[in-house]
Amino acid sequence: MECVRVKLYTPTGIFKNPLSVKGIEIYSLPPYSTIIGLIYRAMGRKWNGEYFGISVQGDYETIYRDYVWFKKYNFDKKKLDKLPLQVPILYNLQLLIHIKASEELLKEIESGLKEPKELLFLSGGEYPVKVEEVKRVKCFEKFFSEEDNITLNYHAYIPKEFKERISFSGTGEGILFSLSYFYRNPQKPKTYSWIDVYYFQKGTEIYGSLILDEDNNPVFLAEPVVEESRRAEEEYVRFYAGNWLMASACVGALKVLENAGEDIGKFVKEKSLTLPKELWQRLPDLYAEYLLKDAEHTLRASYEKEKDKSKFNPYNVIILRSLGDFYKNSPFTNPALSYITKLKGVFIENIDQVKNQVKSSFIEGYEYFLSKVVGTSQTCFFCHERQAKNYVDATTFTPLFASLETVRNFIWDPIPICKECEFLLYFASAGFYRSAGKYLFVYIPDDLLETYRMNLFLSTKEEIEQEKLGKVWSVVRYVLDLEKQKSSWILQNIYFVEIEMVRDATAKIYSFHISPNLAKAIRELIDHYPKNLQDIFSEFLFYIYTRRSLYEFLFLLLSGFFRKESYENLKDNTIDARIIRAGRKMRYLSSNLLFFINFQEVLNMNEQKDYINWAFWAGRALKRLYNENERTQKKLEPLTYRLLEAVRRKDKEYFIHNLIRAYLEVEKEIPYFFKEALDDKNFSMIAYAFLIGLNSEERSKAEEATDEGATTESA
Ligand SMILES: [Zn+2]
Repeated sequence: MECVRVKLYTPTGIFKNPLSVKGIEIYSLPPYSTIIGLIYRAMGRKWNGEYFGISVQGDYETIYRDYVWFKKYNFDKKKLDKLPLQVPILYNLQLLIHIKASEELLKEIESGLKEPKELLFLSGGEYPVKVEEVKRVKCFEKFFSEEDNITLNYHAYIPKEFKERISFSGTGEGILFSLSYFYRNPQKPKTYSWIDVYYFQKGTEIYGSLILDEDNNPVFLAEPVVEESRRAEEEYVRFYAGNWLMASACVGALKVLENAGEDIGKFVKEKSLTLPKELWQRLPDLYAEYLLKDAEHTLRASYEKEKDKSKFNPYNVIILRSLGDFYKNSPFTNPALSYITKLKGVFIENIDQVKNQVKSSFIEGYEYFLSKVVGTSQTCFFCHERQAKNYVDATTFTPLFASLETVRNFIWDPIPICKECEFLLYFASAGFYRSAGKYLFVYIPDDLLETYRMNLFLSTKEEIEQEKLGKVWSVVRYVLDLEKQKSSWILQNIYFVEIEMVRDATAKIYSFHISPNLAKAIRELIDHYPKNLQDIFSEFLFYIYTRRSLYEFLFLLLSGFFRKESYENLKDNTIDARIIRAGRKMRYLSSNLLFFINFQEVLNMNEQKDYINWAFWAGRALKRLYNENERTQKKLEPLTYRLLEAVRRKDKEYFIHNLIRAYLEVEKEIPYFFKEALDDKNFSMIAYAFLIGLNSEERSKAEEATDEGATTESA
């Protein structure tokens, strides 16, 4: 068999689906449709219905999160709005593509890529793509036993069918992605067919029946998808948790089903949720029951509070309160709709009767919802399966989508959705954990059941700490304890999605994730977190989740400690102010503060962490020399201030200058170590460790053990 092998290089690449605009999801390699699009642009023509086999592998140096400008047109204000949005970007991406096609098509592809008809870009990339190689290669099949397995040199998409023929050792099962493939319909509205593939990281060992090219690169050809006919699946309604939004909806639905006593495990497989038709039809009922389950207290309390009883509406108290933030003016929440207004002024006497009234209004809302249909021939974006009956808009999920009438964005065309998926999205509000006006969701892209468990953990865990970061922490802890992660890609992809309602229909959506380095640092070091600084543990977490440098954290802490007087009247209750206050409360410094330096350097992947202890002990030795006579003793404090200032300014020269003077003061020469090790990369690490050493108190081991170093006043 002959293939065309293509090597591509681009400095940056962003591969996203429409829901990734909030910086939440990316593909680790471009989906097939992106590569196919690039090939046809190179050939200077449109796809004309021809299919071919394609294999996509690649490698990148790192992932960054960066801002891109997202434009949308506001019809009301008649102006173009620009929003900065955070997106993950793959840097220095190299792609290895194999194409198998008819001789005629191969020739056309070959000459197209050798002399492209236009400048080639990969979606979202700022820089043109460089075609580094276009070559005919012979491919052959070969069997490998477990003993003489081969190692993947690139990350690879391995089609589901292909995967069944081969075995893997080491890093687990791979991650299931659903990728856009060839067009199903190339005319507008364009629709893609979708293909299930597993993503495997480079380094994975594989064996079994493999196809190799003549340079021993494995080739994983995705064959054209044969449109599956509608099978006996008719008895089921299937959903696909292929993005965080649908995943949160599935989790919400699972909570509702569990509440109804269903054994939910049997409905979930990998990323899909499959419900028997009969159960699906009962879902509106079950949802109403779920929302009403602990309603009695809430209803009575808000009835008592209402001064004008004729204005009291139990529907709004129960349903609107739960769904209002996410589904503004929807069939379930628009307060002007007749089946909602008719409950106005209902008296609370027979509580069951009131609950029934709320429930039947909710069901009427469902019927009205079903009747709202927009004609379209497109396939649903969310399930890739059923015919769309509507487009998503602000009522479907207010925090993310705009109203189609007033604001149109230029990033994607209207997203078509089927009635089933549209209704399921109303369960997202049950999927998110709500606390103090904020919503939090944990998303593990390849595993719906684990996503469900993780979110259950959020909502049922004892409410020790209301704070969201504390909540996140409990999940992180749980994940690490389980050591569930199959690969670092998975770990990087445990996303926390947080939604904060800002105004009525405006929300901020944040996401953050635990990078492999962060997980490593947590796993290795978190038990050494200084016990006397428990009060600011949340602040510490905020720093690491948001990737702020712990040297900034340490600077605030030390500033509080060294300049107790200047912060006497600090009233702010910001994160930074709380850190300064914790510094003020410390009675003395000890080596336990080196924790923050160690932690940061694990994040920085610094191999030279030995310097930390070295610098600390150098600082302590200098302190001892200063304390030998009164004249120099007095100079310790001003020296500390000058060094702290040098650290703040990141001024290495000023730091060394003061250091030389300091050693001269005690008639010593500056240790050679500083000249050797104090480079830009290690400056903060060494400078802070030295400063801590210079101001730390010598304690016996026994004292430190009982005392945990510096203690707060209250201890
Ligand atoms: Zn659908």
